[in-house]
Amino acid sequence: KGTHKYSGVVEDCCCDYETVDHLNEDVLHPLLQDLVKTPFFRYFKIKLWCDCPFWLDDGMCHLRDCSVCECPENEFPESFKKPSSRVLSYDYLMCQEGKPEAAVDRTLDQNTFRGWSEADNPWTYDDETDNAEMTYVNLQLNPERYTGYSGPSARRIWDAVYSENCPKYPSEEMCQEEKILYKLISGLHSSISVHIASEYLLEEATNMWGPNLTLLCDRVLKYPDRVRNLYFAFLFVLRAVTKAADYLEYADYSTGNPTEDLKAQSLMRQLLYNPTLQSACPVPFDEAKLWKGQSGPELKLRIQKQFRNISAIMDCVGCEKCRLWGKLQVLGIGTALKILFSVEGKEHPGQSLQLQRNELIALMNLLNRLSESVKFVNEMGPKVEAIDGGK
Ligand code: FAD
Repeated sequence: KGTHKYSGVVEDCCCDYETVDHLNEDVLHPLLQDLVKTPFFRYFKIKLWCDCPFWLDDGMCHLRDCSVCECPENEFPESFKKPSSRVLSYDYLMCQEGKPEAAVDRTLDQNTFRGWSEADNPWTYDDETDNAEMTYVNLQLNPERYTGYSGPSARRIWDAVYSENCPKYPSEEMCQEEKILYKLISGLHSSISVHIASEYLLEEATNMWGPNLTLLCDRVLKYPDRVRNLYFAFLFVLRAVTKAADYLEYADYSTGNPTEDLKAQSLMRQLLYNPTLQSACPVPFDEAKLWKGQSGPELKLRIQKQFRNISAIMDCVGCEKCRLWGKLQVLGIGTALKILFSVEGKEHPGQSLQLQRNELIALMNLLNRLSESVKFVNEMGPKVEAIDGGK
């Protein structure tokens, strides 16, 4: 296990780096890894072919690994499409690649929309109710890793995300709330880079995948702020999850497979009410200190609009798999923002939390991705430093 050079309290948060690493290693990472494999959390509903509202698609992706494996409609037996086929048996369908984990169960839709809200999220641009154009993707089969997507198209997306939405960064003029939005985006960017580095195509001819520590160093570790923002984003999302504990504990996780669904619920409870988490880091981030002052409500609307723009920009990511994970994780951040800032409290009296199923799937998969990144940075950081120091 590594002990990297970061110490002290994670900026703007309530726990220190060492605690986060231990908590993640011993509790959160193992629980999340199991959770995201359950049927409820592994299927994400998404519109993959989206019109980019800003630029023409210039398809910058060359690797086969760029594309997402979804199950085409003609692979489903007729019976699955009819409501009467809503049987409780757990019939899986095989995806083209023939791997068991590629299975997609279309009956999920009828089974699991019960009890899940279709309420809009003011922080995101996605319309998850447009069923005709949506498809299910098995996230387990489409891991976030190196895809070869780079160059002007990728750069343009990141530039737009940073410069259009955080034009003043890193000037002192930025208020605390803007800094938090910036840190969330930068933390997500770090996490994406960490996943590229942790699963990199080392040799195309032999299809050999493995960690690329040089890339990890060059894109993330060399920049302490990027590491700090990763930890910040992790704690922010963790706070949103624990704040929503009462809602999440009783949410409907049914997919038609009682054993797996009970497992999802049990893992959620183990995470939400974990004694180690509650004693080591009970409030990972204190959201109550934000949006104070007269201009609070106006500022919130402005930042909400900025974040909706970021969400819309995700439709312009020119590589399918990157777009899948980009949209999912931005929706996850939007869900965390909604939990922390758009329900209950003075501004929204009596407005209790309502989540769309997709929002919860995005939230927990995002937390898992951030947890993986924190673990990788913690484990690999000292190794990279040792290599660097030895040069
Ligand atoms: P980039 O990562 O493109 O960074 C651009 C610039 O942003 C840097 O030069 C730096 O100034 C700044 N920057 C970098 N990191 C941070 C940070 N953490 N905080 C603040 N500023 C920063 N590629 C894949 O292989 N697999 C994927 O799954 C994948 N998903 C993507 C998802 C999205 C939404 C986007 C926009 C891109 C994705 N990409 C993915 C592409 C990948 O992120 C890089 O853009 C690409 O690898 C080229 O990297 P780069 O070295 O040019 O720097």
